[in-house]
Amino acid sequence: MTIEPHFHDEPEVEEPRFATPPARVILVGAGPGDPELLTLKGLRAIQTADVILYDDLVDPAVLELALPRVRRIHVGKRGGRPGWKQRDIHELILAHAFGGRTIVRLKGGDPFVFGRGGEELAALRDAGLAVEVIPGITAAIAAAASTQVPLTHRLLSRTVTFLSGAGPGSGLPEFTHIDLEALNDGQHTIAVYMGVKSSGALGTTLIGAGWDARTPVLAIENVSRSAERRVRATIRDLAERPEALALKSPAIILVGRVAGLPVAGRLDVLDQAVTEIRERELAYA
Ligand code: SAH
Repeated sequence: MTIEPHFHDEPEVEEPRFATPPARVILVGAGPGDPELLTLKGLRAIQTADVILYDDLVDPAVLELALPRVRRIHVGKRGGRPGWKQRDIHELILAHAFGGRTIVRLKGGDPFVFGRGGEELAALRDAGLAVEVIPGITAAIAAAASTQVPLTHRLLSRTVTFLSGAGPGSGLPEFTHIDLEALNDGQHTIAVYMGVKSSGALGTTLIGAGWDARTPVLAIENVSRSAERRVRATIRDLAERPEALALKSPAIILVGRVAGLPVAGRLDVLDQAVTEIRERELAYA
C-alpha cells in the first residue's frame, strides 16, 4: 500500500485515511493425504496463511507444512461428536477475515467434489468476500494412480460417475436418484465416495438394475497414506456379505470392469472367482 503524503493546508478529514485491506480467503484442496500430492499453488497458500480451518480428512502431514505461527482450527467431527454446522464454519471464517489476513479453508481431496465447497463459497460471496479456489486431487483419482487402475480405458470404460454413498441428512441412500440401469453398458466405472456403510445397498441395487453380479469391485481405504489397504471383490459380495470386505472409512469403491485390472502393490482378494482382466490381451485387442 502506498502512503499518501499529508499536507498541512489540506482540510481535516473525518473518515479513516486508509481503508483496511481486504482479507484473502482461499479454498484449498489438500488432496487425499500424502502432502506430495498438493498443488504448488495449494502449498503456497498454506504457507502464506494466517489462519487455517481444516476438516477431518486433511492429513496432519499437510498441516505441518504451515508456518509455526499459524492458527490452525479443526472444524470437522471429532471422535464421533456432532460436527460443526456449516453456518458456524462460515461465521468463523468471517470472524477471521479482516485486515489483510489470509484465511485458508483446507478441505480433503478437492473442495468441489463432495466437499461442500459450493456452499461455503456461496456464503462467503454473500458476505462480500472474494474467494479464490485451488483444486486438489480427489480421492478417486488418487486411488486410480496408487493402484495403477485407470478409471477410463479405451476397451473397458468410457465414462465415470462419482457417486456419493451417503444419503441426504443422516440416512443411507437407496440409490434411487441415479439410473444405474442406464449405466449398465459394460463400459462404465462408478467411483463411490462415503460408501462404506451403504455398500451392501449399492450391491443389491446394482444387481436389481441388471449389472452382472460378477462385475469386479475394488475398494481402496486410506489412499496415499501409510494405512492404505486395497480389497477386490464382486458386486455379489457387496450385496451378500459387505462385512467380508471389512472396509473402514475413508474408502473409495470402484465398480466396473477396470476394477478387474491388475493392481500394483498389495491386494486382498475376497473372491478368487473374480477373473483378473489380462492387460496383455487388451493391449493388443
Ligand atoms: N472432497 C473429497 C471428498 C470428501 S467426501 C475428495 O475430493 O476426495 C469424503 C469421502 O472421500 C470419504 O468417505 C471417502 O470416500 C473419500 N476419501 C477422502 N479421502 C480419502 C482417502 N485418503 N482414501 C480413500 N477415500 C478417501
